[in-house]
Amino acid sequence: MNDDLKALIRTIPDFPKPGIQFRDITTLLLSPHGLATCVERMVAAVDGPVDLVAGVEARGFLFAAALAIPLKAGVLLIRKDGKLPGATIAEDYALEYGTDRIAIHADACAPGARVLLVDDLIATGGTARAAVRLLRKAGAVVEQAQFVVDLPDLGGAELLRAEGISVTSLVAFPGH
Ligand code: AMP
Repeated sequence: MNDDLKALIRTIPDFPKPGIQFRDITTLLLSPHGLATCVERMVAAVDGPVDLVAGVEARGFLFAAALAIPLKAGVLLIRKDGKLPGATIAEDYALEYGTDRIAIHADACAPGARVLLVDDLIATGGTARAAVRLLRKAGAVVEQAQFVVDLPDLGGAELLRAEGISVTSLVAFPGH
């Protein structure tokens, strides 16, 4: 299933450092039907009403915005720290390669808002788990997360499920 989408994702070995197989979705985006097919299948997997689709900078923004249109939801930008102009709340997280900090505007979501978290890829889950902590700190109800790509051997999706999130992805690359 979704082999058509998997075939559109290019693997770049040893980027950004030796040993990392970078799953490059820019090739999927270049396809005339790549983004539309992702959105169609992600929308079909959404469970119940969603008030906001939250995307993680930068590739997550594309999928969050595209999903928000058919879902008739708002878009919440989860940015790298230091980019948002208003008062923010932030969370630190570990990447597959390095560490970082993400932030949202402190008033980005009303308490009780139902938020769907979206990103292009889940690896260790560090980014997504920090995003969930951040959104919950802001008062959001986060029960679903969707990814285009899962790297199941890195365990991120399982860790996210352990935090009460229903996790779906379109394509899995076993290994790393
Ligand atoms: P993680 O926090 O380990 O789940 O990493 C997820 C984030 O890092 C996503 O925003 C991805 O865009 C990026 N990422 C991590 N590993 C890879 C990889 N092997 N290929 C492409 N992107 C990756």
